Amino acid sequence: MTDCIFCKIVDQEIPSYKVYEDDQVYAFLDITQVTKGHTLLIPKKHVTDIFDYEPELAGEIFARVPKIARALEQAFPEMQGLNIINNNKELAYQSVFHSHIHLIPRYGKSDDFSIHFGNNQEAYSPVEMQEIAEKIMKQVK
Ligand code: 5GP
Ligand code: ZN
Repeated sequence: MTDCIFCKIVDQEIPSYKVYEDDQVYAFLDITQVTKGHTLLIPKKHVTDIFDYEPELAGEIFARVPKIARALEQAFPEMQGLNIINNNKELAYQSVFHSHIHLIPRYGKSDDFSIHFGNNQEAYSPVEMQEIAEKIMKQVK
């Protein structure tokens, strides 16, 4: 795609710190380095977000995640955990519209990454939970 920053990185029109490359994917350091080793894994083919994947390409990209995760663990033995994040659409913090998976190594509670999972368990009855599950299940194709 002509005006996509990550397509330009894949095509070497914009420089990047490459971590891994094969025929389907490219992995490189995120410029912001939320934590040391923060890596982005992207399909070489332009895919806007998770809703845009063919199953085969989804398989190819997700199959590479453990490969990069293990490389990070080996590279940084002081790493204590790894967050894997995939933002989709602006509200969900996607800022580059070429799908990418963040791999963010974790070094301690005071490193520069945080995430909040609310707990709204009290807001839904068992009946409502069942309705929600069925509503989604009907749409799985
Ligand atoms: P998003 O916010 O869409 O989930 O993540 C986009 C990421 O791309 C951000 O973390 C941002 O730092 C990174 N990014 C944006 N432009 C560039 C760039 O030109 N080079 C690199 N290496 N990372 C970039
Ligand atoms: Zn692109």
